[in-house]
Amino acid sequence: MVKVLLHYINYRTFVMRLRGSTLQPFVPSPNSNCPPGFYAEEELKPHIQRPLQDPTAPGADGKAFEPRWLTAKERKEFDQGFIKNQFNQFASDRVSLHRLLGKDTRHPDCLEQKFLRCPGLPTTSVIIVFHNEAWSTLLRTVYSVLHTAPAALLTEVLLVDDASTDVHLKTHLDNYVQQLNIVRVLRQRERKGLITARLLGAQAARGEVLTFLDSHCECFPGWLEPLLARILENPTAVVSPKITTINRNTLKFIKPLPTAYYYQRGKFDWMLNFGWEVIPEDEKMRRKNETYPVRTPTFAGGLFSVSKSYFEHIGSYDDQMRFWGAENLEMSFRVWQCGGQLEIIPCSVVGHIFRSKSPHTFTNASSAITRNKVRLAEVWMDDYKFVFYRGNRNAAAIFKENSFGDVTERRELRKRLKCRDFSWYLKNIYPEAYVPDIRPVKHGQLNNNGWKCCLDVEKKNKKWEPINKFKCRNNSGAQYFQYTSQQEIRLSSRIDLCLHATAGRALVSLELCQLKGKSTTAAPEQVWIFTQTNQLRNPSSGKCLTVSGGSVIVAPCKSTRLSQKWAFI
Ligand code: UDP
Ligand code: MN
Repeated sequence: MVKVLLHYINYRTFVMRLRGSTLQPFVPSPNSNCPPGFYAEEELKPHIQRPLQDPTAPGADGKAFEPRWLTAKERKEFDQGFIKNQFNQFASDRVSLHRLLGKDTRHPDCLEQKFLRCPGLPTTSVIIVFHNEAWSTLLRTVYSVLHTAPAALLTEVLLVDDASTDVHLKTHLDNYVQQLNIVRVLRQRERKGLITARLLGAQAARGEVLTFLDSHCECFPGWLEPLLARILENPTAVVSPKITTINRNTLKFIKPLPTAYYYQRGKFDWMLNFGWEVIPEDEKMRRKNETYPVRTPTFAGGLFSVSKSYFEHIGSYDDQMRFWGAENLEMSFRVWQCGGQLEIIPCSVVGHIFRSKSPHTFTNASSAITRNKVRLAEVWMDDYKFVFYRGNRNAAAIFKENSFGDVTERRELRKRLKCRDFSWYLKNIYPEAYVPDIRPVKHGQLNNNGWKCCLDVEKKNKKWEPINKFKCRNNSGAQYFQYTSQQEIRLSSRIDLCLHATAGRALVSLELCQLKGKSTTAAPEQVWIFTQTNQLRNPSSGKCLTVSGGSVIVAPCKSTRLSQKWAFI
């Protein structure tokens, strides 16, 4: 109780400090009329009770919906829905907007977790941005919030339209949500992407905490309270639920397993792509029970809660990023570097329809994402940005042409908040990451003197292979390598891939580099000594990197052999 009270005082003083002396704290002070004890079930009742559900209806209890056969007309509807959304809209349209998700399968520690009524959890605005979302997925997201979030904690649901063109999302939506009272639609006039759409929602929000969701989610029972409780406990925590999959073909909601001690967290690669990985052992050990947050180096960025004042304090978003992409890594680096924490709260479970590609059209999609990445690298990554530029020709061009827009304000934010540098982040927040040379010993295209060709890589049977077929082309990421301080030859655009000489085999392959994370020496199969005679000798085979026709092999070293002479150009 004392601990919680202290948290409460921390949170309120923190909020006061952030907002300056003119601002009032959000909720009554702790000594005001708030009865002790835990919230009773009654007090956490949702805004709208779920209507009675038919357990045999399509997708009931989170089950898959898989009709045996479709008429020609249905087939057409199915196909069109899939193309438009990249998920099975046909199924979604037939699953109840109010469906239950079946038994609460979370870990028992989660089920036992209780929340003190005093000082009380902060209130939240749920912000859902959308662009041309299907009606059924959007409304199922809304209802799933209204059926699960305690009414006392839910200030509002804000739907932010990123200039959709679908008619069902216009007046029909406005009229429909009016009857739900607590739901409002905001509109971004111009299509600018999810970043500015979320900012629009954040500015309008009246809750103490902002909770962002994608427009095709379903919330598992009890998802909101653990997020809010963590923010109450630590106002600088930016918290994500455990995101589970709603199958895009069948709408099956993959339920959490009570036995899953094996968690995923967010990672990134040096091309600035987000990904998932299993949490390391020491993070598993640090967590005393399942209610503990999982610290995560990066987050997926679509589903999370953050104190509204902290969101503003920490620089919300870079509003000059366009459309979609990289804003999650930007926020991840920023939160950690500027003193916040990024966490996944396993007791909070929300389902999301993951798709294999985006159904949305953007003008110059890939260059917009690359530009976003350059902006983030320029502000947060210090000289590590060069690692990214070396592997991404387009990013390097944007950097060189200075066409990533003005980042002065973001750099000033970094200074104002006295944020730490990127090497601190790598060392302290992501010590498992492989840290490439900021400036490798040599890098560029690897030109073979004998064949006047550049070493290239090609994907064959799902595996990358070094080849020697092409003239040097400076637009191809597949021809750029770096010679590292550990004497490896890494592909710059996939810095985790190394030239590898397998024992007893002439053909050289491209394998995952064995030097990664905390290890300090490279595997002998992946070491290449650059000799005085410009040969690349692999000590494990004692042989030299050689071009033989279209292939790249190791062969006995002969200092006169031109097909063994290499230069980085
Ligand atoms: N979105 C948006 N404008 C865009 C692209 C996406 O408002 O230009 C919305 C989209 O409707 C969704 C969220 O932003 O609610 C995240 O996009 P999406 O689901 O396509 O990304 P994913 O989850 O597949 O990474
Ligand atoms: Mn999504």
